[in-house]
Amino acid sequence: MNVPICELCVKSNVLCSGCEDKVKKGKLSKLEVKLSRLLYKMKDKYNLENADLTKAIDLDRVVIVLTKKDVGVLIGKEGKVVSEMSKELGKKVRIAEMSGDIRKTLSDIVAPAKIMGINKLYKKDGSIYKVRFSKKEIKQLPMDINTLEKALKYLLDSDVMIVFE
Ligand SMILES: [Zn+2]
Repeated sequence: MNVPICELCVKSNVLCSGCEDKVKKGKLSKLEVKLSRLLYKMKDKYNLENADLTKAIDLDRVVIVLTKKDVGVLIGKEGKVVSEMSKELGKKVRIAEMSGDIRKTLSDIVAPAKIMGINKLYKKDGSIYKVRFSKKEIKQLPMDINTLEKALKYLLDSDVMIVFE
């Protein structure tokens, strides 16, 4: 199982200084800590040996769990794993694949809305992703635009601009 906290922390209720440091630096969220421990508890019951939790993002109404492996593992048979996570967090949970293909990852997150295009723009002080949607897709977005922008910033570790055309 691959989770963002160390093996020691996954089994205990306190964080070691290494993991605590990651939280302080904003590299690790409380939500990710909680989900890591939850998955560990569920490991034997649902065969989560090969599960991968890379990041988790709280979007108010929904929590996005990002995995570098097959999303099916974290969804589970008949959606049992994802529904248990959802019960525990008291929110809808959506699993998305985080691969080198940013467009694919973002598509999973914003579904059923469809992305028109993603451009990476380079500025003097870094880069910014411009994520473009058609105007008629606004209603299809599973979260509000501010929340989405914040989530994508965390996910891409870069500035993000969302535009509707
Ligand atoms: Zn630790």
